[in-house]
Amino acid sequence: MCGVCAARDGGDMITTERLTKTYGPVTAVDDVSFAVEPGRVVGFLGPNGAGKSTAMRMMTGLTPPTSGRALIAGRPYAELTNPGRLVGVMLDASAQHPGRTGLETLRLVAIHLGVPRSRVEEMLELVGLTADEASRRVRGYSLGMRQRLGLAAAFMGDPQVLILDEPANGLDPQGIHWMRGLLRDFAERGGTVLLSSHLLHEIEAIADELIVIGRGRIIAEGSLDDLLAPTTTFVRSLDDRTLAAALVETGAEVTTTPAGLSVTADAETVGRLALAHGIVLLRLSHGERAGLEELFLTLTTDQDRAGPVARPTGAAA
Ligand code: ADP
Repeated sequence: MCGVCAARDGGDMITTERLTKTYGPVTAVDDVSFAVEPGRVVGFLGPNGAGKSTAMRMMTGLTPPTSGRALIAGRPYAELTNPGRLVGVMLDASAQHPGRTGLETLRLVAIHLGVPRSRVEEMLELVGLTADEASRRVRGYSLGMRQRLGLAAAFMGDPQVLILDEPANGLDPQGIHWMRGLLRDFAERGGTVLLSSHLLHEIEAIADELIVIGRGRIIAEGSLDDLLAPTTTFVRSLDDRTLAAALVETGAEVTTTPAGLSVTADAETVGRLALAHGIVLLRLSHGERAGLEELFLTLTTDQDRAGPVARPTGAAA
């Protein structure tokens, strides 16, 4: 499995290069390029219809790109020698066979991957499904249980990479917290995780980095801290005029309001500058985390693809 060795030497584990998919007049994924390094949990965030699933289907060899390419450990998925042992995939938790029990589902995965049968019990324990739950038919599972089962299947081959489409869907806040721990541990051991969500708060709770997609295109990417950092600080002092002038000198934009100053700098910078000028502060607070939340809100309201998607049968490839 030396596709992995190259990546263990420091290469990117998931790469897309100008990845594009069109369905007739619809460009589902539009010129998307990014790289995910080992040790990272990266959130792929975008409203419904943004192109996340289509991109993930191309990464995992289920849909051929119209142009561009997606690589896992430097190779297209279809060229990996033992893909199930390198990449754990969960694309549609509701697609599991409803008539099988959880246990049967996982045993089939184990056989398919050629891993020892004992691994099934280990995976059930990993995802917190009890023996009683595992003996029930999947048709009676809640969405959260299906997600856990899907994760157990994705982890079965002891992969290096996880590609998970909306894995937190159907989980309660405790479940989301649990998933964060699970994925973090995996990443800390050198694993690479790409998980999608249409909910900012889910991604915020789980990922360290973000790729934001809207209408098939990447519109923002970076660390969560950077993308969610407050963009403004609100300050009121005994000498707003002097403080405003000092702030403008540092390159910050300052808006004067009757209640004080709104500044495009972080609170620490503003506080230190006031200290340096001997100005007494009456109030200093973070402004809104305007950037990403506003951007995301605009995307969500503005995107007219949020409704149920009609897919012509047989058009998936
Ligand atoms: P997301 O996963 O972000 O919700 P999708 O990748 O499912 O978004 O969909 C992106 C766009 O591509 C949507 O406009 C959707 O209608 C379209 N699309 C996805 N799959 C198909 C398909 N098999 N045939 C036609 N259009 C599709």
